[in-house]
Amino acid sequence: MKYQLAIIGGGPAGYTAAEAAGKAGLSVVLFEKNSLGGVCLNEGCIPTKTLLYSAKVYDYAKHAGKYAVTVPEASFDLAKIVVRKQKVVRKLVLGIKAKLTAHQVNIVNGEASIIDAHTIQCGEDTYECENLLLCTGSETFIPPIPGVAEVDYWTHRNALDNKELPASLVIVGGGVIGMEFASFFCSMGTQVTVIEMMDEILGGMDKELSAMLRADYAKKGIKFLLSTKVTALSKSEGGTVVSYENAEGTGSVEAEKLLLSVGRRPVTQGFGLENLGLELTERRCIKVDEHLQSSVPGVYVCGDLNGVSLLAHTAVREAEVAVHHILGKQDAMSYRAIPGIVYTNPEIASVGASEESLQKDNISYSAIKLPMAYSGRFVAENEGVNGVCKVLVADDGTLLGASMFGNPASELIVLAGMAIEDGKKLEDWKRYVFPHPTAGEIFREF
Ligand SMILES: Cc1cc2nc3c(=O)[nH]c(=O)nc-3n(C[C@H](O)[C@H](O)[C@H](O)COP(=O)(O)OP(=O)(O)OC[C@H]3O[C@@H](n4cnc5c(N)ncnc54)[C@H](O)[C@@H]3O)c2cc1C
Repeated sequence: MKYQLAIIGGGPAGYTAAEAAGKAGLSVVLFEKNSLGGVCLNEGCIPTKTLLYSAKVYDYAKHAGKYAVTVPEASFDLAKIVVRKQKVVRKLVLGIKAKLTAHQVNIVNGEASIIDAHTIQCGEDTYECENLLLCTGSETFIPPIPGVAEVDYWTHRNALDNKELPASLVIVGGGVIGMEFASFFCSMGTQVTVIEMMDEILGGMDKELSAMLRADYAKKGIKFLLSTKVTALSKSEGGTVVSYENAEGTGSVEAEKLLLSVGRRPVTQGFGLENLGLELTERRCIKVDEHLQSSVPGVYVCGDLNGVSLLAHTAVREAEVAVHHILGKQDAMSYRAIPGIVYTNPEIASVGASEESLQKDNISYSAIKLPMAYSGRFVAENEGVNGVCKVLVADDGTLLGASMFGNPASELIVLAGMAIEDGKKLEDWKRYVFPHPTAGEIFREF
């Protein structure tokens, strides 16, 4: 069995590459040991957003009175919410399968193992390939906290499939995944505590806007413990006791459930990666060039596995660039404008440089902030809710970074991302006609 491209991993990187290469006429084999769609479709981006949408609808129903609409008593059925989530996932996975099949991709369900850069083993069969694309993704990192092996903790998988609402939940890790689950369970009525080692939640996002989001959720009832290190975990009658220490001393929180979400690590073991002898970076990640090609010609590494960004949209773009390189087309990966989104309610989004990174690199900039209330549509649809849009601009007016707190930040941030990627100046937004009234018009106001 000889192919022009063999792909290990059927997540966003793998299926995007397979579709693009198949469409271009390459013979492609894709190995997936679990379910097509990878973490993103099966246990990440899509299932979380499906649950969060139910929470949003419930929030709207609870607060309908703000818009002079009467909803007698809003309620929900968590088991049915989870079933709906599974239905959404199934539909999208089938869609991916149909697309790949239409482009003659040979999908092999099984665990692939690398023999060398041109030979893959899966089950009893051996496959030969001209090019090899590795995209085995990442897995949840379980921190070695004393007691972790003795307690029953949740990872995101358990939280997604849980059908009974816990009365209380401690989330260790206030990053994007932690905050999205905090938002979901807080909306549904669980008493949530978030413990974060750093001095602010959502490391990597704009600090000022992250603090606004935290203040908003603190008002809604979430308890935050920042600059706090979890020191031990133990079982109790009521669930789990989480012991911690911070500048004020030591303490503990007890909750019915515990969710660990302190980060993810690339999957590098168990599939013969060592047989390739790929060069690593200083951070011990696989080294790739701007075409996502590793130190071994013809071997490409995309998505979470290369450890650069750990986001599905980055994985998709990287996969396209890698396939273009295989096809001999001009293209190169740019990480200048990768959006980062937190799908809480309200959402928060950032793209491009942050104030912290500009200060660290000694780059002169000015930060300009506007309230989202400059947009009529935002005011019409966000009764009693504040929002902010902030841009970071170089001395010559070139846009360097942007952040937004308010709905629908996830849909709008790409306007800033495109401007940053193309090296546009603030005044360039004024040359475009924005539909009115839309929240995105805020960008024309700068
Ligand atoms: C709870 C959660 C929420 C998230 N939300 C978002 C979000 O909103 N937006 C966003 O951009 N990102 C989000 N992410 C991150 C996103 O899921 C990942 O960045 C994305 O899935 C990475 O894609 P990938 O193709 O690199 O790998 P993956 O999606 O991890 O896919 C890798 C695939 O490789 C397969 N595989 C591994 N080894 C082998 C082998 N030896 N043989 C055959 N198959 C193998 C695995 O089974 C898996 O299906 C979220 C992640 C989590 C956990």
